[in-house]
Amino acid sequence: MREERTCAQKFSKVILDNLLIILMIIAVIIGVVLGLGLRDIWEPYDKRKIFFLKFPGDLLMNMLKMLILPLIVSSLISSLATLDSRASGKMGLRAVVYYLSTTFAAVVLGIILVVSIQPGKKGSRIDKSGAAKKAHPIDSLLDLIRNCFPNNLITACFQKQVTEVDQFEVKPPTMTTPTANPNISTTMMPNYTQAASFFVDAPYINGKADGMNVLGLVVFSIFFGCILQQMKDKGKPLVDLFECLHLASMKLVTLVIWYSPIGIIFLIASKLVAMERPEEMFEQLAYYMATVLSGLAIHAFILLPLLFLVIVRKNPYRFMYNMLKALLTAWGTASSSATLPVTMECLEDNNHVDIRVIKFVTPIGATINMDGTALYEAVASIFIAQNIGISLDIGQIIIVSLTSTAAAIGAAGIPQAGLVTMTIVLSAVGLPIEEITLILSIDWFLDRFRTAVNVLGDSYGAGIIEHLSRNDIGACPKYTLDTGANGLTMGNDYGGTENIAFRKDELPTTKM
Ligand code: ASP
Repeated sequence: MREERTCAQKFSKVILDNLLIILMIIAVIIGVVLGLGLRDIWEPYDKRKIFFLKFPGDLLMNMLKMLILPLIVSSLISSLATLDSRASGKMGLRAVVYYLSTTFAAVVLGIILVVSIQPGKKGSRIDKSGAAKKAHPIDSLLDLIRNCFPNNLITACFQKQVTEVDQFEVKPPTMTTPTANPNISTTMMPNYTQAASFFVDAPYINGKADGMNVLGLVVFSIFFGCILQQMKDKGKPLVDLFECLHLASMKLVTLVIWYSPIGIIFLIASKLVAMERPEEMFEQLAYYMATVLSGLAIHAFILLPLLFLVIVRKNPYRFMYNMLKALLTAWGTASSSATLPVTMECLEDNNHVDIRVIKFVTPIGATINMDGTALYEAVASIFIAQNIGISLDIGQIIIVSLTSTAAAIGAAGIPQAGLVTMTIVLSAVGLPIEEITLILSIDWFLDRFRTAVNVLGDSYGAGIIEHLSRNDIGACPKYTLDTGANGLTMGNDYGGTENIAFRKDELPTTKM
């Protein structure tokens, strides 16, 4: 009887999970059809109508963003506080190696494609549209490091520090009576009166940018979690609090996910209606788009799955399918931070990745691991060079690869953040920053695909790191409690369950 009930429960869960995926796919289709349909009736400058159309989508974005803060903080603190410090150290190292190597691989792939396809030399010189934001590359890098250490935790929840640059006029001193001192020969004096005034940069860090300083919160939570771990029993009440916060937030995620198909419809439809001169844009940038999309596809469908297969030896496409809800959410929202709650849910519920690994690696991954963004930054900057007729030598291409990796790490998990950090890449190889405007019109579209690849990279990362760390962290406590008459029931092969024939007295214990 009990077995029948659990079978029925499992069956209804499978149906419910797939129902949501089907609903999300239908939402994407409806969004595209609605957007294209409304384009014929509305004009792109009907901003008020577009504003209303986007409203249900804004609600989805708000709900997802609302969950980022409690999830990131509670996940990192509770996982680091409960993990053995040696285990978390090793896991952290593996995560960093995975993030850097896959990001760099994506950059190299992008460079190979853009150099061989040469999209910038195909077709005509593209007209620029819009205006680019000016930013000094060194300032951006320093801001990145500065934001790791927020000066105020409360403001870090909604603000980042940015360097702002004022122009400061320098007026050289004028000499009214240069010959007043008879001991000084006038021929030795510089002619001050003729020197023109000039402007110098005056950077200051009081600048504020709206948006959560996720990097700062991640760094704080990592240190806080490690300290709580050292405090053992004294830190326990706080650890329990964060554990509880994590559980409650994840329950909220489950509710929000059911609203996501509705939000996705309106996010996509409003974007399509607002698009100006799409035919021209797609025609002019067709080769560029094809290069970026083929690079993202190779990375997502060949490189990452191959890595997963070689290391974990399990079906990577099954794992990817189980992440579909998160991938569709990433596509719909163009924000890997906003997708974080759904990513965690899919990893835990569908792929049965150890919750301690999820809590540790996914918040960090969503903040710094962006394979899709890195690939796009490398392709876009070389495309710009090709389009304006500048050929980059091998040294400059190496600089592009290194700075694209850094720029992707620095990009926030929000829509079109990669476009802003691309100034680092362009300035590093001496390309004019204003040329970013060449690719501005198409960026929102490519952003969706690269965000989905970013989320996929984080997800495979969690699976791979769990596999590599299985001996360090021991069995997941969740399963040690779940013992039946025949031993332990565990998730297997990213989907089903299997009975592990442990005798009860042999149950694996954790090193916690
Ligand atoms: N939208 C991307 C993300 O959230 C970042 C970017 O490439 O612009 O992951």
